[in-house]
Amino acid sequence: MSEPRQPAGALRAGDAGRRVRLQGWVGRRRDLGDLIFLTLRDRSGTAQAVFDKARCPAEAVAAAADARSEDVVELEGEVVLRAGNQVREEPTGEVEIVASRLEFLARSDTPPFVVEDRTNATEELRLQYRYLDLRRPAMQKNIALRDEITFRVRKVLHERGFLEIETPMLTRSTPEGARDFLVPSRAHHGRWYALPQSPQLFKQILMISGFEKYFQIARCFRDEDLRADRQYEFTQIDVEISFPTEEDVYEAVEAFLAEAFAAAGIKSDPPFRRLTYARALELYGTDRPDLRYDLTLCDLTAAAAGGGFPPFEKALQAGGTVRGIRVPGGSGFSRKDLDELTEAARAHGAGGLVWFKKAQGEVTSPAKKHLSEGTLGNLLAAASVAEGDLLLVVADAAKTAFASLGALRPLVARRLGLVDESRHVFCWVTEFPLFGFDAETGGWFPMNHPFTSPREEDLPLLESDPGRVRARAYDVVVNGTELGSGSIRIHRADVQERVFRVLGISEAEGRERFGFLLEALRYGAPPHGGIALGLDRICAIAAGAASLREIIAFPKTTSGLDLMTKAPAGVDARQLKELGIDPPARSET
Ligand code: ASP
Repeated sequence: MSEPRQPAGALRAGDAGRRVRLQGWVGRRRDLGDLIFLTLRDRSGTAQAVFDKARCPAEAVAAAADARSEDVVELEGEVVLRAGNQVREEPTGEVEIVASRLEFLARSDTPPFVVEDRTNATEELRLQYRYLDLRRPAMQKNIALRDEITFRVRKVLHERGFLEIETPMLTRSTPEGARDFLVPSRAHHGRWYALPQSPQLFKQILMISGFEKYFQIARCFRDEDLRADRQYEFTQIDVEISFPTEEDVYEAVEAFLAEAFAAAGIKSDPPFRRLTYARALELYGTDRPDLRYDLTLCDLTAAAAGGGFPPFEKALQAGGTVRGIRVPGGSGFSRKDLDELTEAARAHGAGGLVWFKKAQGEVTSPAKKHLSEGTLGNLLAAASVAEGDLLLVVADAAKTAFASLGALRPLVARRLGLVDESRHVFCWVTEFPLFGFDAETGGWFPMNHPFTSPREEDLPLLESDPGRVRARAYDVVVNGTELGSGSIRIHRADVQERVFRVLGISEAEGRERFGFLLEALRYGAPPHGGIALGLDRICAIAAGAASLREIIAFPKTTSGLDLMTKAPAGVDARQLKELGIDPPARSET
């Protein structure tokens, strides 16, 4: 009987003297004449084997001489310690296997790129040969981390009494408002399933069904333009709770996020800081603040008013605001830095960016000659500008001023080296507005989805001042990235109808799209609420990966292609006929 298979990456000095049998992939081969070195890789890591022509059977030496990268082999031999100065820098570096046997289990063609972490393969090539790319230790590590995170989330939620319940993939349009992926029905020509944008309606129904605590590691589909941090199909940690307060949701999420990030050695320090939406905008210009550094915004409206500087006056007369960021030690920013910041502010809609520097007791600014001494003094005092500081100011509609200064914060922080990449600062952003206003259509749209509950005290404003109604909605954010969002839901049919009315969803449309939920709400719906978090994003942040594609085994490119399977692909005319679909005039396969 041969030895049991030994994981290559687990060999240590203590194994010296053992006979072992390994199976795995050949990495590198070095032929030094008398000695042939092979590295053997499996999921556990790599080990080095040596074939010594003087001692090893000729057959094994011949096989080793013939071995090529990515051949699958079995080898046997004795573990020996390497001399002190020959210890390699890897976990198995203190030992090697003096081999006595080598057999090929499968040969490999020459791979299109070297299967090592440092690869110069383009991403296209990596995705086309994903099976080779996934063999690279870094990808093995990412996929294993993803498994560990998913397992921990499941464990925490299971132990807290959450039931994992699957919901259909073939369903009808759900309310997240993105474009649907549609699936034609063969049995009912002209009718279509939609792949779920989220399990939103089903999880609410599950609460009405009495399950009280639900979660699902749920695949969701949204036909939106892709980016590095977006895929057509993605995975959510989807959660719903009956009879909850916001605190119950926060507590459950903090519990599983703490475990999940701990899998990557990241501390999340619950309970997370809370910020209302209004406060987040006021302080950071965004509802996704990066709290690893300060750089808070200040309100300069009162100080600027009546100062005679045309850009400020114009913004204020139009009902806008004047906001700034004091950049401590920023007086050293060059003309080029300031031009770049101005560009960035413009890209977010600002008409321009006004700057003030204070250095050696002197204030410099392109706006200086337009401002009275008094106004200048008031502005600098309102922003607490000190020696060596820079003040960046935007005067515009509030939305634009916040968006542009919010976009400058991270740029300035990076420029000053204020971002501590080793830290992860989590927070909750709460009390989002229930509705946003679409200037184009002149109508209100739901900031989250139409089932989000207004705050009880804002109910009287629903019809009279919808823009001021705050939602019982919350986002969880880390380092400037949104990880998830959710809300306490509407559980009363009358409130749901009022919200639909504000959104311009007619009774007929409401019944047509969400009739089953509206009906279910009439049979005793418990108060309920929940959240959904992006698992892919959590894994990418935990892994320190630049793109979601690094933590998804088989992702799509930014143009939505699967380069390995070549999906999307053409289909037979026969398949289309069965589905009752006319073939396209010119088929593009
Ligand atoms: N279904 C929502 C979403 O996917 C999240 C939630 O409200 O739970 O954005």
